[in-house]
Amino acid sequence: DDDLALLDGVEGGEVLEAAERALPVLAVIGRPNVGKSTLVNRILGRREAVVEDKPGVTRDRVSYPAEWSGTRFTLVDTGGWEVDVAGIEARVAEQAEVAIALADAVLFVVDATVGTTNTDEQVVRLLRRAGKPVVLCANKVDGPAGEADAYALWSLGLGEPYPVSALHGRGTGDLLDAVLEALPEESEHGIVRPDGPRRVALVGRPNVGKSSLLNKVVGADRVVVHEIAGTTRDPVDELVELRGKPWIFVDTAGIRRRVHQTSGADFYASLRTASAIDKAEVAVVLIDASVKMTEQDTRVISQVVDAGRALVIAYNKWDLMDEDRRPFLEREIEQDLVQVQWAPRVNVSARTGWHTDRLVPALERSLESWDTRISTGRLNAFLGELVAAHPHPVRGGKQPRILFATQASTRPPRFVIFATGFLDPGYRRYIERRLRETFGFEGTPISISVRVRE
Ligand code: GDP
Ligand code: GDP
Repeated sequence: DDDLALLDGVEGGEVLEAAERALPVLAVIGRPNVGKSTLVNRILGRREAVVEDKPGVTRDRVSYPAEWSGTRFTLVDTGGWEVDVAGIEARVAEQAEVAIALADAVLFVVDATVGTTNTDEQVVRLLRRAGKPVVLCANKVDGPAGEADAYALWSLGLGEPYPVSALHGRGTGDLLDAVLEALPEESEHGIVRPDGPRRVALVGRPNVGKSSLLNKVVGADRVVVHEIAGTTRDPVDELVELRGKPWIFVDTAGIRRRVHQTSGADFYASLRTASAIDKAEVAVVLIDASVKMTEQDTRVISQVVDAGRALVIAYNKWDLMDEDRRPFLEREIEQDLVQVQWAPRVNVSARTGWHTDRLVPALERSLESWDTRISTGRLNAFLGELVAAHPHPVRGGKQPRILFATQASTRPPRFVIFATGFLDPGYRRYIERRLRETFGFEGTPISISVRVRE
């Protein structure tokens, strides 16, 4: 039975994907005292807030596992943020922006007895710009008399206001039904994955040695998997154990079958490459070290980076390398791979097996970086030092200030920086370089986006 389960996972991919699926994230935002904490506790079904009150904006977000009608999601509570009295209204929008960036959908809480304020309207503008689904909660509607207050909130232009009493529980069922409608099935924000097999794509232009390397690395283990499966069919993906861990090599059927179409072969090859990268977490881009690097090679690398996958570059056919070619190769690396200097490179020979044992450790390093999360506290301490040592240049009499940053997601790491103005591309590259120097990130693309605070 176990074998069968294994087979299901490998062939359909569905079993594994279900296990890996990240829960959707709902952020609860709103001004202080509108009843966010009360509502969060109501949703979680508990009386006491577990929110720790650590002062300071740079504390990490507080998220809890939540469930309604059998659907699980992650609830991000911003109620405990920033207890500083000075400038608190201004901070609401800032924090809301972070929360929105982290969420798949937003629950916007307004105190219906107070009505809307300028801060609420500022938040509405943020929500519009983010384009994420919003559910509007008109809180403190403790009885039918308060419902008129709730309907006044139609004016926010966020759709139907749900009248709720977080304190007494009135209307929370309808509210949560609306929340489930708004949440996607799966999060856009990769939450740390469970210990499933990691997915690898072997890509590169025709004849670089993908099939040979697959045979070398996967070797006899693959046969074992086939025997378990008890099938003669060619599975699309192959499951093997390497260095004590399960790995899935995706879309290997295409590699093994080696169909050589006479027309449109390039088109199908690039289509297959795109699909393999899409299914994988990490891609090995094979390059023939014995011949001049081509534009096709760098295009495949760009595909991997653009797809946000971890990357390992394997220089194959090293047995054909002669000393004359060596300086040329080094120059090609410097010129053509400057954008991916962070990627681990392994020199291998799929024919002789030379150094092929270095491939899996390189995959592990890249994936570890891909999964890395830097805490908000560490990130802001790092940025504080960076800015102090090297402030953004003054442009036209203005100097954008960095206010705050957070890592919005992993796999790959994505950072959001909140600033008072746009940052120069050069300064962003400087931040990326320092991030890599400080935190590593070997083998993973990282993205940095800047949000300008209004
Ligand atoms: P937060 O700052 O947005 O997290 O707000 P809290 O949850 O701490 O609530 C602020 C105050 O409003 C508290 O005194 C709550 O008891 C009160 N409150 C919250 N929800 C309701 C409600 O539905 N009705 C009434 N009457 N009071 C509420
Ligand atoms: P694919 O099209 O990328 O799957 O490439 P193949 O694995 O089919 O290899 C294409 C050709 O290159 C075959 O003739 C292989 O034997 C040869 N080849 C693959 N790897 C190496 C290598 O490391 N050294 C040498 N000398 N030849 C290799």
